[in-house]
Amino acid sequence: MKSVHKWLLLLATAVIITAASFVIIFLPPDEDVPFREASLREYSATLPDFSGSRGEEADIPDRSAILNSLSDQHTSASEWGERVSGVKNRHDTEEKVIALTFDACGGPTGNGVDEELLSFLTDYGIPATLFMNYRWIEDHEDRFLELADNPLFTIENHGTAHLPLSVEGRTAWGIEGTASPEEVVDEVLINQEHIASLTGKAPSHFRSGTAYYDEQAVKIVEMAGLTAVNYDVLGDAGATYSAAQVESALLESRPGSIVLLHMNQPSSGTAEGVKQAVPQLLDAGYTFVHLGDYPLTE
Ligand SMILES: [Zn+2]
Repeated sequence: MKSVHKWLLLLATAVIITAASFVIIFLPPDEDVPFREASLREYSATLPDFSGSRGEEADIPDRSAILNSLSDQHTSASEWGERVSGVKNRHDTEEKVIALTFDACGGPTGNGVDEELLSFLTDYGIPATLFMNYRWIEDHEDRFLELADNPLFTIENHGTAHLPLSVEGRTAWGIEGTASPEEVVDEVLINQEHIASLTGKAPSHFRSGTAYYDEQAVKIVEMAGLTAVNYDVLGDAGATYSAAQVESALLESRPGSIVLLHMNQPSSGTAEGVKQAVPQLLDAGYTFVHLGDYPLTE
């Protein structure tokens, strides 16, 4: 019997090791787009109540005021995608300035911290704009507060449950978006109030999870006091690019470009590609600015 137990134990160990390797090897390492774990309403129900905890300086429209100003026009949309009326993609300038924006998506496959990238930016004083998702902030609150405290970085809103922003449940990359104007309000406002409660400052720019919107959802973002911003340079394609691909994408920047990259995938080519491209862009006469330092345009 003893040897049977030993064999059973060995077999169980082998099964566990095989299963673990499978998970490590086959989990997508490069999702910009974490899963929708639950409907937004279920998700929000698990969150703490932020009312009354807003930062002193933050000016955030009241949730009920926004809900009261919603009308029938907000319930159905005609556009859907990354290029949608009202979403800004560039700075309106001929000056040789580039805004590097890094998303921190959070969630099961988006929860890393690219410290190599952050060290590079801080060591060389490269300003950057960080789009932070509620879940990432929740899991890295100390690191979030350090970054928010560093004048090199500005903190912006990357949503609460990282959902495509739809007033009618449209889907992007297999992820079901917010299903109503009310869910759009929560996806934007819960993280907005969370960031303000931690930093005392409300973000002024919003990027949805997956960067998809409809034009009515964009109007609701504006009602919440934010501007929806995507990009004109796809810097790392959801952190799937190799370092060489990131480098050549960045070198396509032009005056006023907004580059979309990620700071939550340390095993990606993003940090190395940024390190290769930034010195070349500086040599070419570019400087780096924060989002909103110049007027934004579609
Ligand atoms: Zn994201």
